[in-house]
Amino acid sequence: MLDLARHLRGALAAPCLICATVPTTAVICRACRRDFLPRTRPRCPRCAAPLPRPAAACGPCLQEDPPFDATLTLGDYAPPLDGVLLALKFGHHLALARALGQLLGQRARVCKGSGALVTAVPLAFERQAERGFNQALEVARAAAARLRLPLASDLLVRVRHAPPQEGLTRQQRQRNVRGAFAVHRSCRGLHVLVVDDVMTSGATLAEVARTLKAAGAARVTNLVVARTP
Ligand SMILES: [Zn+2]
Ligand SMILES: [Zn+2]
Repeated sequence: MLDLARHLRGALAAPCLICATVPTTAVICRACRRDFLPRTRPRCPRCAAPLPRPAAACGPCLQEDPPFDATLTLGDYAPPLDGVLLALKFGHHLALARALGQLLGQRARVCKGSGALVTAVPLAFERQAERGFNQALEVARAAAARLRLPLASDLLVRVRHAPPQEGLTRQQRQRNVRGAFAVHRSCRGLHVLVVDDVMTSGATLAEVARTLKAAGAARVTNLVVARTP
């Protein structure tokens, strides 16, 4: 039986998605997982934008207080993470979502505590219909398991169709997502950890945080796989 398990694992092993050399059954090999987390740079604690040196907040966050309280990320939306995210988006890669979720959970250990729960940004309607797979939710599931926090998969719902954000200015993006989400229960006093795959302008996550705070959330932390530098 053990032999069979070992044989099956061997048969399913594929080159690690990050280093493209080490065969692994866990999508990202052990060495790359270990190296992932220390690879950090100074970032804005609020929105995770890269900073030249550690500071309390970046320029835009100082200018306009974002509705979320903190953002944690695995790294910049650049190689190797951009390729990893493309694979996640179009490869229906559950094992990869799990690996990334575990890494995010590890990074978010500071968020453990009572009254905390994990949720994910829901997909746009047409994408959900097209793919039937919300990669953010699968990442959130693994992050929640790692943090031993409850996953509230249906906390957020899309109530309005927002056209794609690509090619829009920051202000247009904000207007574009206004009123796009709703929560169907009270979040009073909760610390909500919101998982998404990529954070670009932050307009979507800002709207999500606004919605959660209006429903009573005490604190909102974004957990994003990658941040556009
Ligand atoms: Zn590797
Ligand atoms: Zn910032």
